[in-house]
Amino acid sequence: MSCMSDKTGKLITDDGSRLDGRRADEIRPMKIEIGVLSRADGSCYLEWGRNKVLVGVFGPREAHPRRMQRADTAVIRYKYNMASFSVEDRARPGPSRRSIEISKVSREAFEPVIMAELFPKTAIDIFVEVLQADAGTRTAAINASSIALADAGIPMKGLITSCAFGKVDGQIVLDLNKEEDNSGEADFPVAMTQDGEITLLQMDGHLTSEEIKKGLELVRKGCKEILEIQQAVLRRKFETPIEEPAKETSMEEISDIENKVVEAEVSMGYASEAKVVEEIHEEVKFFEEDILVKIAEEETVTEDIQEFEELKNKIEEPESLVEEKTLKEIIVAEIEEKADLKASLEINPKITEFEELELIEEEYFSSDAEKMTFESEEFAEDKTPLYEQSINEEVTSEKTFESKNELEFKDKSRKKVHAEEAVKVEEKYEKENSKGPWRVVKDPSESGSKGDKDE
Ligand code: UDP
Repeated sequence: MSCMSDKTGKLITDDGSRLDGRRADEIRPMKIEIGVLSRADGSCYLEWGRNKVLVGVFGPREAHPRRMQRADTAVIRYKYNMASFSVEDRARPGPSRRSIEISKVSREAFEPVIMAELFPKTAIDIFVEVLQADAGTRTAAINASSIALADAGIPMKGLITSCAFGKVDGQIVLDLNKEEDNSGEADFPVAMTQDGEITLLQMDGHLTSEEIKKGLELVRKGCKEILEIQQAVLRRKFETPIEEPAKETSMEEISDIENKVVEAEVSMGYASEAKVVEEIHEEVKFFEEDILVKIAEEETVTEDIQEFEELKNKIEEPESLVEEKTLKEIIVAEIEEKADLKASLEINPKITEFEELELIEEEYFSSDAEKMTFESEEFAEDKTPLYEQSINEEVTSEKTFESKNELEFKDKSRKKVHAEEAVKVEEKYEKENSKGPWRVVKDPSESGSKGDKDE
């Protein structure tokens, strides 16, 4: 059909159908969504035919810049913008004469209904973005703005609806689409209140008064349809369902409810919430048992410690006795040992040998007394023990079995005695203690070179 129309250049067929199949008094299908922008106070997305517009309303809010504020009323600002991608040929971004004009006439279309006086010094901002354009974008934007204003809670005397009529192929038709707008003879957008008061009226083209009269009748019809759609949308959004009043409950019903509550309580064990509570109870019970076990273990340990202490004491008592006994035994043994030592000294055959050696020594001294005088220090020291032992008899006897080195060390620390004097002392000593078997002389075999000489 459209191909045929294109070929003939007609926009309306002989049977009165338009290119998109509508009749002359029909509007394009309209779809409205409300509250689509979360940051806006009110918003609306509207599709009308192939037009797609998005409207956001902000306010009433403090007007900026301040010079724009009005003391007696709110300032209504309307900004229409056509996205560059909204049309076939790219639209120039930013404001244009057309967009400024559309913004102005659209704002004025709302001023009669918005109760701006309630919000002095404030601003009510309406932002329109045309996402897709197919003629009639200003009327689509006005219809969407009306919904967005209502969504924002802006007090209004009523909704504004808008629709255009035009002249296509000599016929007055409602709501022109893009092809009809481009090839048509006139375009006549109108906006009106719910009461039918016109708030916007524009004309592009040539129309007779009869055509305008006929066209306005079509617009009223169209706006009425649009209003119904708008109201339906708003009702769906804001209308709250009426709750039925609660009827009085009889005693039988109360007892039934009580029984159900009891049943529900019984079956709580199987409810998810009850299961959680039960799990918590079980967990607490487990912890309690665990704590009891730990306490019992600690008590056992304490008991064990006490038992251990007792056992330890029991062990230590005899040990201490044993120690004491052993100590005594050691002392006694030592005493006995000393006594034995003394006895052994008395009968030690070594002493006899010493005496024999002593005689040899004396013989040596007497024959070589002069030489002895100039003997080495070592020799003199060798003689010293005899001399010393004559002085410290007891000590010497005790030290008889001390090591050779020990004796030598002690001897070296003592004063040297002249050999001659030593001989004299020795003689004297012999006279006085000739019987003394305990006399100690140094073993000649230990005298080193001297021993060799003796040989
Ligand atoms: N249009 C366009 N480029 C423009 C302006 C408009 O393609 O810069 C198209 C667009 O589809 C628009 C139509 O021309 O819907 C009619 O524009 P008009 O100025 O009549 O405004 P409207 O009918 O959209 O309110």
